[in-house]
Amino acid sequence: MTHTDAHVITLGTAGGPRVWTLDDDAEPRCGIATAVVVGDKWYLIDCGQSVYRQVRKAGLDINKLGGIFITHMHSDHTVDLINMLVLGFYTVAGEGHTIPIFGPGDRGALHPLSPRASGPVNHVFDDQPTPGTRSMVDFLLRSHATDLNERILDSLYPNPVNIFEAHDIELPADCGFQANSAPSPAMRPFTVFEDETVRVSATLVVHPPVAPAFAFRFDYDGGSVTISGDTKYSENLGELAADTSLLLHEAIDLDWAHRFYDDDESGRASIDHHKKSHTPPDLAGKLAEQAGAKKLALHHLVPGNAHGKVWESARSTYSSELIIPRDNQVISLNGYTV
Ligand SMILES: [Zn+2]
Ligand SMILES: [Zn+2]
Repeated sequence: MTHTDAHVITLGTAGGPRVWTLDDDAEPRCGIATAVVVGDKWYLIDCGQSVYRQVRKAGLDINKLGGIFITHMHSDHTVDLINMLVLGFYTVAGEGHTIPIFGPGDRGALHPLSPRASGPVNHVFDDQPTPGTRSMVDFLLRSHATDLNERILDSLYPNPVNIFEAHDIELPADCGFQANSAPSPAMRPFTVFEDETVRVSATLVVHPPVAPAFAFRFDYDGGSVTISGDTKYSENLGELAADTSLLLHEAIDLDWAHRFYDDDESGRASIDHHKKSHTPPDLAGKLAEQAGAKKLALHHLVPGNAHGKVWESARSTYSSELIIPRDNQVISLNGYTV
């Protein structure tokens, strides 16, 4: 039996809206971003800081990019989408190649105020306080209109508005989602996108108050890759990841969170968030074991400067191959490294 050649490149492996400083001269891990490479096409999941540099370092060709998938609207997953758009389009051969971008739609309701707040808190941009993917891509391109028009008119580059097609992911109408009261109802995976190479499915995961927050699964001829997005232990994710060839799961060191944050209401609110919205490595291992994932890689590591042994506790619950990848590490899906 022949299978399509496939591998993953872990472009960036750190989580959180920070650049983690290291205690030696090592390069910090880049922000979360993952390439799923199938045959001669590849797909990009999340656009953390330095994503475009990492794409170039990895030798990935924008003209072979089959789509960009955003798990949720936290900035550590979107901050360098701008670079993919306004730097990336220089290497697109022409307007015949469209690149779809899929991500969450508008949240539809403001987030609830933390019970730790001592009084009213002013939010920003009341006219559109919770934009989704389509609006974000529109805002990003509009903010560079002066530059883009110069390149298009004077240097005759292709028009990026015609190249990047943003879509808000539509949830199944009967799934019961409500951003504040039911952000991650139990649901069956649903198809987001399909081309001749992959079928991409999604499910809602547990990352409150962010909603919707998605995990994605890429099925191709001969295997599959599942990417957790940011989530607490999620039964929806377990169903999505059933028998997957590789699960990339986020991981947090909660002991670090207790050491890191100040002992005040703001610090306690941050610790509250991490506990209700992220997964320690042993629970990531448990989910991978229950799902029957053939390999488990931990990424979106928080903190991004922890020593590798912090993540080893996943071995206590997961019995197959565990990987703690570096940035731009190739993870083979066919039993050999490309
Ligand atoms: Zn994140
Ligand atoms: Zn997040």
